Amino acid sequence: MPTFNLELVTPARVLFEGEVESLRAPGVEGSLGLLAGHAPLLTELKVGLVKLVLPNGAQEFVACSGGFMEVTTQKTIILADAAEMAADIDVERARRALQSAESALGTVEPSGIADVKLQIERAKNRINVAQMRI
Ligand code: ATP
Repeated sequence: MPTFNLELVTPARVLFEGEVESLRAPGVEGSLGLLAGHAPLLTELKVGLVKLVLPNGAQEFVACSGGFMEVTTQKTIILADAAEMAADIDVERARRALQSAESALGTVEPSGIADVKLQIERAKNRINVAQMRI
């Protein structure tokens, strides 16, 4: 099966660089599936799962905390606000983050509610994606 080059980066590090057969990413307007030769696009990503299928058929699951994805004829770049491979997720940390965000929800100023809800979403996503590690 034809492959395409993917760079999955955060402001802190390169999480993945290499060939993939396909990927699925959480676009803000819905889940996006990509194969080699996809038309160029630029889209915003929401919090969710990025799933990669490698040339050997293995799958990689990544927790994505939002960002952007750009598809060009040369390569696909995912610039995530934060992202972790499933195997690298510290589930206890995510549970603590979830608990502290949930308790903050009752006390935060109205202007801070959206941020706290986003923290809750990120933590829940990390917990879900961690369960997908093989
Ligand atoms: P926390 O409150 O636990 O710091 P957070 O949602 O505020 O969570 P972020 O600001 O999204 O954390 O991420 C900061 C850095 O920590 C990023 O590099 C991110 O990949 C990493 N990170 C956050 N939570 C986890 C986790 N549960 N397991 C592994 N890495 C994590």
